Amino acid sequence: MSTLTVEGLSVHYGGVRAAHDVSFTVEPGQSLGIIGANGAGKSSTLKAIMGLAPRQARAIRFGAHDLLRAPAHTLVRHGIGYVPEGRHVFPGLTVEKNLLLGAYTSSWKRTPIDEVYELFPVLGEMRGRLAGALSGGQQQMLAVGRAMMCRPKVMLLDEPSMGLSPKLVGDIAGVLKQLNAGGLAILLVEQNAKLTFDVTTTCLVMENGEIAASGTSAELSDDPQVRRIYLGL
Ligand code: ATP
Repeated sequence: MSTLTVEGLSVHYGGVRAAHDVSFTVEPGQSLGIIGANGAGKSSTLKAIMGLAPRQARAIRFGAHDLLRAPAHTLVRHGIGYVPEGRHVFPGLTVEKNLLLGAYTSSWKRTPIDEVYELFPVLGEMRGRLAGALSGGQQQMLAVGRAMMCRPKVMLLDEPSMGLSPKLVGDIAGVLKQLNAGGLAILLVEQNAKLTFDVTTTCLVMENGEIAASGTSAELSDDPQVRRIYLGL
């Protein structure tokens, strides 16, 4: 069983401070959300864990693996799935080829593709179609399905609700809850606080690159300040 541990993480782009002294853990099977406004530092935090942003940290570990020393492409093999902001599917490849690429570096322990089609029947129906022809919601399902192909133990998701209709956001929430109930740990970064509170049990609030509040998702969704700023209530 592997815990994702982030201790004292800071991200700077030249003179721009995107994250400062961020610490948290994601236990096996846990669902942790990070909410915050545009520019709060959420994406930078995820990218830094993945080794895709300039970072300084006391520690970033996944179980026994020291991620500060692990090249980005090896993280998939350690059981870390990543769904980047904006999906980044390969539009000129078929749905099936996009999925197979998700297991490219760990083909020896990939999830059978039929399991992904069971989870997302729409991808099975469209397996021969070019990913670029899919709707935004279908592309988001494809990005999640692609990350599932390496049989992850934890999945990092960056704003999966971006640009989706409320109905499709509800569909994504349902899938994430189903995956979490099956034992997959989830780290969900979102501007959509409602979705995050629905999917996760624990939550952090990021402001100006720092963790400004934390608690159970139920507690935070009842907090008057959080309701006013992040739920518009
Ligand atoms: P969003 O919800 O819009 O994705 P965010 O909370 O994920 O916002 P980040 O994207 O992490 O925030 O950005 C944090 C800060 O870092 C912002 O001030 C942003 O302009 C800056 N930033 C992000 N990426 C870069 C980059 N590649 N170069 C320079 N500055 C950057």
